[in-house]
Amino acid sequence: MDALQTLAEKFLKFPGVGPRQAKRFVYHLLSRGPAEISALEAALAALKKASAQCPHCFRFYPNTGSVALCPECSDKGRDPALMMAVERDTDLDAIRASDAYRGRFFVLGGSLPFLEQEPAKKIRIRELLTEVERAAKEDGLREIILATSANAEGEHTALYISKTLESLLKKYDLQVTALGRGLSTGAELEYADKETLKNALKNRG
Ligand SMILES: [Zn+2]
Repeated sequence: MDALQTLAEKFLKFPGVGPRQAKRFVYHLLSRGPAEISALEAALAALKKASAQCPHCFRFYPNTGSVALCPECSDKGRDPALMMAVERDTDLDAIRASDAYRGRFFVLGGSLPFLEQEPAKKIRIRELLTEVERAAKEDGLREIILATSANAEGEHTALYISKTLESLLKKYDLQVTALGRGLSTGAELEYADKETLKNALKNRG
């Protein structure tokens, strides 16, 4: 495989990118010249060096020092009794930016397709079980808010998680809730505005 094809294959793995677009990215870089390619190289190296994954909520965040947990997990102002499980890092960013929620988070890393044979390859279900148990013991966790997308796959994901968490819920007397109907069907959390998020949180159950 030549260098153009190799890079195109990398872009093809990005969300929402098809083969034509992947090639367009490669030609775009080439047409911008060597300086642009060097700048991209530098940005990728910096990303690798100065980012980390939080061992509690599993989000990726810029890590410039020796802090072990992400800013949200180490923020004492956030209510440790609440844990909101979202599909993606971008959902977390949107909810954090909206200021509508003051609890902790957990990033599932995706959603669960119907008939998936190996759920643990699509979402961080094992990590969630471990974190729920840890938070229940150490942080006084009371409620897990499932904030998956308001579409069929999102609902399927939420149902699977509730079932899998069942014994832990009983053991630690925890409650599972889902965001209310403030979100229109099919709406992605990432694009919801502050008022919509506030209503969805208020109407959870
Ligand atoms: Zn965290």
